[in-house]
Amino acid sequence: MRDEQHARAVAGWISRAATTIRELAAQHADLAGHVAAGSGSGASDGVGIRGTKVAPDLPIRPEVVDLRGAIERDAKRYASLVRGTLRGTVTVPVGTAGRLGMIAEHLAAVHVEDGVLAAEVIEAMWDHHRDASRIVDPPRGLRPFRIEDPCPVCGFPSLWVDPKGWRIGCGMPSCRHIWGVADPVLASNAKEDAR
Ligand SMILES: [Zn+2]
Repeated sequence: MRDEQHARAVAGWISRAATTIRELAAQHADLAGHVAAGSGSGASDGVGIRGTKVAPDLPIRPEVVDLRGAIERDAKRYASLVRGTLRGTVTVPVGTAGRLGMIAEHLAAVHVEDGVLAAEVIEAMWDHHRDASRIVDPPRGLRPFRIEDPCPVCGFPSLWVDPKGWRIGCGMPSCRHIWGVADPVLASNAKEDAR
């Protein structure tokens, strides 16, 4: 029973992270439209700017350029580590979107081989996703939703995920524990109990 609970908690954790990584691939593409200064949904005159021919020397938003670069570097780095961890049985795609998709697809297998690496990948991807969500429109997946895993503190299946606040919380009034959304506490607690 404990093993089943642990397996379900890990599967849920991996599946949420894989969704986040796939959303990040879409956000990375969308960020390209926000590199020019004055672009983006944050600008009140954004609609007017879109219909106007922009000057070639339009200043850029360095924070957007930096974030895109960081996503690209991590996509490359972790896709390569995923390939190494899976002993070359998978190939590293050419583009950033492909690499992120490859990481998402093999995350469960990586977790089996190297749990520390999987946790590192998940944390880095959640960070990028959060930063990108401040610039590009938040993906539809950012509404709070419930998950079936039992709370590691009170044991009730009353957990919810708030992707916008990056938290997993317990809805039991007597419990109300809250964790970071990338925190593997659900998996690690259940694992220790199972020993
Ligand atoms: Zn609880």
